[in-house]
Amino acid sequence: MGEGKKNMVKCLVCGAVFEEGNEVCPVCGVGSENFVPYEEEKNNFHKNTEELYLILGNGAAGVSAAEAIRERNSTCSIVMVTKEDCLPYSRPMLTKAVMGKDEREELLLHDPAWYEEKGILNLTGKQAEKIDTKEKEVTFDDGIRLKYDKCIYALGSECFIPPIPGSEKNEVVAIRRLSDIEKLNSLLSESKQAVVIGGGVLGLEAAWELKRTGLFVTVLEHGDQLMKRQLDQESGEFLKSIILEKGIDVKFQAVTREIEGEEKVTGVRLEDGTVLPADLVVISAGVRANVSLAEDAGAKSGRAVIVNEHMETTVPGIYACGDCAEYEGINYAIWPQAVEMGKAAGANAAGEKISYKTVTAALTFNGMDTSLFAVGDPGKDPGRTYEVRREEDEEKKIYKVYYYAEGKLTGAILIGDTSDMGRILEEIE
Ligand SMILES: Cc1cc2nc3c(=O)[nH]c(=O)nc-3n(C[C@H](O)[C@H](O)[C@H](O)COP(=O)(O)OP(=O)(O)OC[C@H]3O[C@@H](n4cnc5c(N)ncnc54)[C@H](O)[C@@H]3O)c2cc1C
Repeated sequence: MGEGKKNMVKCLVCGAVFEEGNEVCPVCGVGSENFVPYEEEKNNFHKNTEELYLILGNGAAGVSAAEAIRERNSTCSIVMVTKEDCLPYSRPMLTKAVMGKDEREELLLHDPAWYEEKGILNLTGKQAEKIDTKEKEVTFDDGIRLKYDKCIYALGSECFIPPIPGSEKNEVVAIRRLSDIEKLNSLLSESKQAVVIGGGVLGLEAAWELKRTGLFVTVLEHGDQLMKRQLDQESGEFLKSIILEKGIDVKFQAVTREIEGEEKVTGVRLEDGTVLPADLVVISAGVRANVSLAEDAGAKSGRAVIVNEHMETTVPGIYACGDCAEYEGINYAIWPQAVEMGKAAGANAAGEKISYKTVTAALTFNGMDTSLFAVGDPGKDPGRTYEVRREEDEEKKIYKVYYYAEGKLTGAILIGDTSDMGRILEEIE
């Protein structure tokens, strides 16, 4: 390692890479026991041009793309635009320990000087409305138009709001942006009972944070088990018992019919007629990729904008990455994927030819005084015969299960002790 070069570490929980020395991960907030040393790949490609790179979206994908371009091109112009009113920040932290607090500054990925030094211009509060591929320019909601030679489409995704009557009420929040948390925080002082619609990781994180601010919390899960795709029945039960012990109620096969209330939310009515009293509702029902601008510009899309291994869309000059992009039919909508796709999009837009390295989708949860890690196939393929190894320590609240098929590890679930995470990831990968 060269003089002055900092040692880097990678967070195994969210995949973020940052300088050694942090006690907690700046992206997802877990402790340093989850970090492993990380050797950054050296970039030897360099091509200076006077081109204009326009990056739509300033999330993990947009910032990674901007950085990758600047590493390869010292003279081009890089402009990054977002409709939000702030510099890039850690989106995962929104459901991790920021509820009830004003932590805008602490969430920033880099301070303003970092962008100045790298010559990356941030434009905030501008919503992109149209991409004109003939003129190579993008029109924004305030009427301005920005030209590009290469455009990086990194508009991320939005929370999916199921068509539930009453979901438009003021006391109903879906957490995607800093402004959502700021709104939720403004409602907390007048709230006593919260209902969280959706028992996935983000729903459970939100439930835990709401509980910690002193609210009574009920989680509504559509299915008959928590995270049925990633957990087996036993681990789902184990997690449920931890949640119930923390004083959070969970209702399964709960189909919401209406969010009730005249002026303010008063409750949530379920299909079976039960009404759960509530003055605050958080909806956590998954995300939908922002595809419309790219589609209107002629790009092909499936669940997200379709890209090849170089992150090129079907429209020349437009690259897509992050939550809004889909490679080989896959779009996990997770932070490490956004970072890796962003790096590949930036490098290729700058003239290098590199391929996107797919990331392993692992489920991680840190909250309720426990931790959870699940990866791979936990016995879900009916065409396979599995060998299963379970370890359980009821007292220490530890549960581990490993699934094997044809002598190989296919999946694992760890609850309460996730220290084996790095080794498992390596074995699965
Ligand atoms: C609450 C929460 C917790 C999460 N926790 C985790 C976790 O623990 N681990 C993990 O791996 N992942 C987590 N994720 C997912 C992770 O945050 C995303 O995968 C990642 O942020 C995606 O980055 P992106 O750059 O693709 O998109 P985004 O971060 O969504 O960035 C897109 C940007 O484009 C802007 N934009 C959208 N439309 C327009 C427009 N028309 N004009 C201008 N700007 C526009 C948006 O405002 C946004 O700034 C979490 C997500 C949320 C919401």
